[in-house]
Amino acid sequence: MRSPIPDYLAEVLADFASDTSGAPAGYIPELATADPERLGAVFAMVDGAVYGAGDVDIEFTIQSISKPFTYALALADRGFDTVLAKVGVEPSGEAFNEISLEGGSGRPLNPMINAGAITTHSLAGAEGMDAAQRLDHVVSGLSAFAGRRLSIDESVCSSEMEHAHRNLAIAHMLRSYNILTEDPAAVVEGYTRQCSLLVTARDLAVMAATLANHGVNPLSGERVVPEPVVRQVLSVMSTCGMYDAAGDWATQVGIPAKSGVAGGLIGALPGQIGIATFSPRLDAHGNSVRGVSLFGRFSSDMGLHVMEVPAAARSVVRSNYVVGAGPNAIRVLELQGGIRFAGAERVVREVMDTAPTEAPVALDLTMVYSIDDVARRMLLEIVRRLTLDGHDVYLIDPEFIIPDPDPGDGGRVSVVSSLGQVGSDAARRGRG
Ligand code: GLN
Repeated sequence: MRSPIPDYLAEVLADFASDTSGAPAGYIPELATADPERLGAVFAMVDGAVYGAGDVDIEFTIQSISKPFTYALALADRGFDTVLAKVGVEPSGEAFNEISLEGGSGRPLNPMINAGAITTHSLAGAEGMDAAQRLDHVVSGLSAFAGRRLSIDESVCSSEMEHAHRNLAIAHMLRSYNILTEDPAAVVEGYTRQCSLLVTARDLAVMAATLANHGVNPLSGERVVPEPVVRQVLSVMSTCGMYDAAGDWATQVGIPAKSGVAGGLIGALPGQIGIATFSPRLDAHGNSVRGVSLFGRFSSDMGLHVMEVPAAARSVVRSNYVVGAGPNAIRVLELQGGIRFAGAERVVREVMDTAPTEAPVALDLTMVYSIDDVARRMLLEIVRRLTLDGHDVYLIDPEFIIPDPDPGDGGRVSVVSSLGQVGSDAARRGRG
């Protein structure tokens, strides 16, 4: 069978191919020469499957899409406190190159506008690195996100440097507030080189999938940044990634995203997918026109909005029944799926409503495929309370979804691999 996914992608690209509105970025002369007809889209799943259609292997400069990744490196390298002291997390509602800093502190409002991104570049790598070492660290870090060594487009870089007056003005202002502590021109050069890294839509989708996959590159298996960093980066992308169009984006598309003026656009949907599109014509906000349309379509066709409410937690309790009769009776609660807080709450209520009279109570986890920390602790608290009420509690857990269960003070639990063992174990202990 041929996968329907690339066919779907090609079909959606065809629907938007004729839209020629917008224009390639003009303020970087070299970008204005880009072929405006280029159009591509890539899906990278968090387990490493990659699908694409159109211009997926054409290189273009990453531009502002480098910002969330450099922010991730800075957070990982210097820690949250150091970075947050210098760059805020508030949406600016302004253009990406607005010369605006927080009143008083002089902090840039967020790391997605240029003021914040220039500062973030200066915070990547260990303290004391010189400009060249830092750039090398940033290139290596972004390459790890992409899963291949990225290189710089020197002509785009020098073209931007010749016209970098605005970014230089921002950097000098940052220097005057001591947000930047080194030569502003050198930092702008490093930042501009970072923006000039060449990527393909395929690279960008893998970079986004690395965020969606809690910081582990799904192709190389490398952990690039720690999980708390990913949560921070995705949060900032969702509130600030599309600049002054962030509110429209959050409501209509609902995928943490970042755009770049060379026409790239990425979205990372936690736990599911990294998406990238490439189309150079931009709208008034500096976001790719067809990229925005494609994301709108992907989100509605496939229910990718982060605020899409998932199926009810009620389905966590698959069945609640008694096997055996009289003194041999065993109460069994069969659980299923992925269990988080709301699912565990449903189990608590099921146990309370049932108020089991049978001595043995078994929680059957055979069909549970994941359980998060809070849900695990809640299930073990149920075990503890059932023990205190005089029950013999069993976890039917053939795949050790809860390794080394410890129900704590006064709790006791036997782990078995099938329901059959519950009966025999209870019988052996003379309760049958
Ligand atoms: N290098 C560009 C700049 O600093 C990046 C802007 C963007 O992609 N939005 O202006």
